[in-house]
Amino acid sequence: MQRIDVGVLGATGLVGGRLVRLLEDHPWFRLREVGASDRSKGKRLGRLVADDEGGSLWSGAADLVVKAVDGEYASPILLSALPSGIARDLEPRLARAGHLVVSNASSHRMDVDVPLIIPEVNPDHIEAARRQAARWGGAIVTNPNCVVVGVAMALQPLHEAFGLECAVVTTFQAISGAGKPGPAAGNLLDNVLPYIAGEEDKIGKEIRKILGRATADGFEEASARVSATCTRVGVAHGHLASVSMGFRTEPRVEQVVEALAGFRGGVVDEHLPGAPQRPIEVVPGDDRPQPRLDRDTGGGMTVTVGRIRACEVHHVKMFVLAHNLVRGAAGAALLNAELCHARGMSAHTAHASAAR
Ligand code: NAP
Repeated sequence: MQRIDVGVLGATGLVGGRLVRLLEDHPWFRLREVGASDRSKGKRLGRLVADDEGGSLWSGAADLVVKAVDGEYASPILLSALPSGIARDLEPRLARAGHLVVSNASSHRMDVDVPLIIPEVNPDHIEAARRQAARWGGAIVTNPNCVVVGVAMALQPLHEAFGLECAVVTTFQAISGAGKPGPAAGNLLDNVLPYIAGEEDKIGKEIRKILGRATADGFEEASARVSATCTRVGVAHGHLASVSMGFRTEPRVEQVVEALAGFRGGVVDEHLPGAPQRPIEVVPGDDRPQPRLDRDTGGGMTVTVGRIRACEVHHVKMFVLAHNLVRGAAGAALLNAELCHARGMSAHTAHASAAR
């Protein structure tokens, strides 16, 4: 199979660096080009990300010379890990130029023709991107906020079985969720920051879009009410969330465990290379999930859920954990790109046609 060229925008950042590492030996995609800010332009990628905790970059990636993000790109698929302020204008421009832009940024997640996808949860929302492609040649496809990925994944089988009416979400978010350079270590040692700018607002909106229905001209959102409180804690990677839920039909705790443990997701037959064997793993024991012990389950792509118990205010409560840089960002975008390719989206971009 001939591999498709992809580019990574924001390749020198925490998410972009992970994307570059995940693309090593990818069976469908070949990393052809990378972009970042003017600070990095013209330098070899290996010089800029070699000091990351993942060790040296693989040689094909390390040798790539970083381009400006508004330069010329030849790859049909561009994986974007840019700050939302830059992505807002740039991503539509790239889509209009015929690229399939698969984005981590929040700027276009709620747009009417832009799918906000977790492949195991709402793969059919991808059809909305065809409306963009018909207009522009290219399209933007997005993955959710790094907390929302794990929480929405865990809520989906419960919503389907019992009808989610409300959720109260309290997060304990890792330092790497703030990007480079992140909060000063001194501010997080012996401390918890009880506010993350712009975060709480996204959580309910994105969950409702993901759990909703794609229609012929947009999305019909799920009606569940969501109250979110977001905090930053001194953990390197892995966002933990405490979630308390109320349903239309009150489930027993065992039914909730069963629905979560049995969840396989909507793309199991598509054999996407980045899909974990188990999208959700229910961990036993009163002291799990923990970021350090559980974030790398399924290569960082499995969401772990534990402490599922009756709630004194709503019906049931639980803890949900997802690796923010993998399932919450780089791995999520790559899986979305794989879904697009499996469903023929990449073949419809103007760039793909030109490249053939
Ligand atoms: P980051 O570590 O700060 O990296 C930002 C990247 O964007 C770098 O490559 C940087 O290049 C580039 N950049 C910054 N300013 C730019 C400009 N003016 N023009 C062009 N490029 C510019 O951020 P991150 O944590 O990887 O996050 C990237 C995106 O993913 C953000 O939209 C974020 O909200 C989203 N996201 C992050 C996470 C997470 O856990 N961190 C999870 C989900 C989604 P230089 O190195 O050259 O400055």
